[in-house]
Amino acid sequence: MPTDPSIALADILSAASVIRGQASDMPLVPSPSLTALTGQTVLLKLENMQPMGAFKLRGALNALANLSEDSGGVVCCSTGNHGRAIAFAARQRGLRAVVCMSELVPKAKVDGIRALGAEVRIIGRSQDDAAVESLRLGKEEGLTEIPPFDDARVVAGQGTIGLELLAARPDLDTLLVPLSGGGLAAGVAFAAKTIKPSIRVIGVSMVRGAAMQAALVAGKPVQVTEYPSLADSLGGGIGMDNRITFALCRDLLDEVVLVGEDAIRDAMQALFFDDRIVAEGAAVVGIAAIRTGAVRLTGPTATIITGRNTDMPSFAAMMAGQSVTVGDLTIKGKTYGA
Ligand SMILES: *Cc1c(COP(=O)(O)O)cnc(C)c1O
Repeated sequence: MPTDPSIALADILSAASVIRGQASDMPLVPSPSLTALTGQTVLLKLENMQPMGAFKLRGALNALANLSEDSGGVVCCSTGNHGRAIAFAARQRGLRAVVCMSELVPKAKVDGIRALGAEVRIIGRSQDDAAVESLRLGKEEGLTEIPPFDDARVVAGQGTIGLELLAARPDLDTLLVPLSGGGLAAGVAFAAKTIKPSIRVIGVSMVRGAAMQAALVAGKPVQVTEYPSLADSLGGGIGMDNRITFALCRDLLDEVVLVGEDAIRDAMQALFFDDRIVAEGAAVVGIAAIRTGAVRLTGPTATIITGRNTDMPSFAAMMAGQSVTVGDLTIKGKTYGA
């Protein structure tokens, strides 16, 4: 059973009661096509069904739970979905929310955040620039900073997915978890391995700008260049002064695997055409890892379909086999199954 000074199972259980009925119990469904492909049961945890479209609502609700109404409000930096979750949770609690994002964040995500009533600040070319601005605003305007991943309340909130997975399927052998700053992977791995120490937890990132993987290889946080990617929600560094998620991922993840942009496109198509599910690039990296053989399955496996906040015109074009561009990156069109 894992032990770590930054988090305990009690924190995750407490987060589960905070989010119950609001962000809990997203469906866990079988994928017949991936099961047929691998010969192992493959299950999909549908966090894309969250009311604001991504699992990050779990951590956001937990982080805001103890803020009083007369606190000055909250501020965060985000690659899109954390900001959207904070905007959603803040509106529900009657709190002011300011979300700092870089120019790399897709317009569809920025629009979604504005629609929830949050103030948006676009700053710089990287998640690091947005993080600096968020810290500054917190100090200057008396706003409470809610980090997107490196925060015990956020990690505990995301960890509730691990509780739900093992409550539903105690026989799970492997979990494939999309990995960026590691709040999700740390929380899920901590919960899952506390309940079932033998379970295998694998983090999956995109090849272009895999910050946690670079840090794990170096043995410490390192600066990583941020590139446009279909998995835009996995962009950004882990923070050079990372406090908890680096150590948790180092200690709890069995492995990290990387997938390329074409594999992400293929996985988005497979999920859409075979399972009839709409998800964003970051959400399908587990499927990409299975389909490319980057991970060999050794028993019942679940992957977390982390979000659905994709630009729909690009998504439709990609499903139709057309090329799409993400920043200066072109993803070549391909007809599914051809
Ligand atoms: C934030 C996010 C992730 C990665 O979560 P981390 O806690 O930063 O590792 C994966 N998928 C989606 C859709 C996200 O929004």
